Amino acid sequence: MQLTNRSKKTDKSDLSVLEKTYFPGVAKGMAITLKHFFSKKATIRYPEEKRYLGPVFRGHHILKRDEAGRERCTACGLCAVACPAEAISMVAAERVKGEEHLYREEKYAANYEVNMLRCIFCGLCEEACPKQAVYLRHDKFVPVFTSRDQVIYGKDQLVEDMDNRYTRDAWTKEDMQELWEKQK
Ligand code: SF4
Ligand code: SF4
Repeated sequence: MQLTNRSKKTDKSDLSVLEKTYFPGVAKGMAITLKHFFSKKATIRYPEEKRYLGPVFRGHHILKRDEAGRERCTACGLCAVACPAEAISMVAAERVKGEEHLYREEKYAANYEVNMLRCIFCGLCEEACPKQAVYLRHDKFVPVFTSRDQVIYGKDQLVEDMDNRYTRDAWTKEDMQELWEKQK
């Protein structure tokens, strides 16, 4: 049954006998395959190998502490409001006497979560934050996850480790490779 009248009949009358065997065409195709087999690969073996994505890459979120180690976040909620994916949620709490060394402001985030399944890594949370508390790291990817239980990142995964502070000093490809080697 003919569905449309757009099919074209191929005219093979001007092909030579050799061309009609398809051998030249197959040989040409194999030559191209062989050429690419020995040329530099365009792909990499991710996640074992990582590509330098530039200094403006937006990766794993981090909740920064100040120089004294106090959490910067004051649970104002601006990052959550700015987030187009509704990926951020938090529970605010009031700092009590004796906790001044833990939290910089009188109000802090007792619970802060980012749903990585929703996040589109747009960086708007970072831009909205008035306390320079939330950043998207340029040197750390969010690891591959296989279960939904692994996609909600809480404070245990987000708050900065004072022994391994995050800075944006490493901008060059060589610096990034060094950082990734350390993170392995
Ligand atoms: S990077 Fe964008 S999508 Fe992800 S949490 Fe921040 S504002 Fe939301
Ligand atoms: S990370 Fe910044 S914007 Fe978000 S709640 Fe904390 S202080 Fe506010």
